[in-house]
Amino acid sequence: MTTSTTPSPLVRAEAVHKYFGDHHVLKGVDLDIAPGEVLCLLGPSGSGKSTFLRCINHLETIHSGQIWLGDETIGYRLQGTRLVERPEREIIRQRRSMGMVFQRFNLFPHRTALENVIEGPVQVKGENSRSAKERGTLLLERVGLGDKLHAYPRQLSGGQQQRVAIARALAMEPELMLFDEPTSALDPELVGEVLTVMKDLAATGLTMIVVTHEIGFAREVADRVAFMDGGRIVETGTPAEVLDAPRHDRTKAFLSRVL
Ligand code: ADP
Ligand code: MG
Repeated sequence: MTTSTTPSPLVRAEAVHKYFGDHHVLKGVDLDIAPGEVLCLLGPSGSGKSTFLRCINHLETIHSGQIWLGDETIGYRLQGTRLVERPEREIIRQRRSMGMVFQRFNLFPHRTALENVIEGPVQVKGENSRSAKERGTLLLERVGLGDKLHAYPRQLSGGQQQRVAIARALAMEPELMLFDEPTSALDPELVGEVLTVMKDLAATGLTMIVVTHEIGFAREVADRVAFMDGGRIVETGTPAEVLDAPRHDRTKAFLSRVL
């Protein structure tokens, strides 16, 4: 029982370590994200941001520590004092509660926007195709693509494809959305339309972890900003705290390069 009025976190990473071979990539990552919170994760290339996101949905295994989603540990469960990997079906169930949007859109090239969006609900969740199409249409309208339902990815700009990818993730009704540099592969003039969609999503109360170099977005939309360097979270705080008054030299150095 907790007597605190602070909501328990939706995501909690505790002392997460990850190696690729001998390469120690995550060196004890601790981070909490409250329900409805938007956290922007910043940091230099190679600091472990993508690896950490991939550990959250168990696309990567972790070496020690734990990641919680609500009251469940992701990927592993404690057996005595040992972490054992969960059975595949539990991992699949856990993964389904998270949507992920990558730098590259990864749409199915031979399917229309709407077909891309309904694929998961129909194939994975067994939703009937009529209801999936209705929901998919609404989702594509919500990301500003109501007139592109039947367009193929090659007929869409990068920004439009990324918005389809966001609608596709939302179609699975995730509790948590993970964005890994969703605008980094886009031509500069297409970045804004994707950030606008993400900002609208944030306003709906969806919990989001966004790896981005878009400092303006972090400043405007994030509830909290975390700065990662060398496989650790170096500092966290409100956008004003971290972006305008960073405490750590490594944060200062990073910001002076990107601002
Ligand atoms: P970021 O997203 O912050 O740029 P990454 O998480 O992609 O950083 O990478 C962190 C470190 O882990 C880098 O040194 C990278 O080369 C290494 N790394 C990432 N993925 C792999 C992998 N699959 N195998 C081996 N090394 C990897
Ligand atoms: Mg990355």
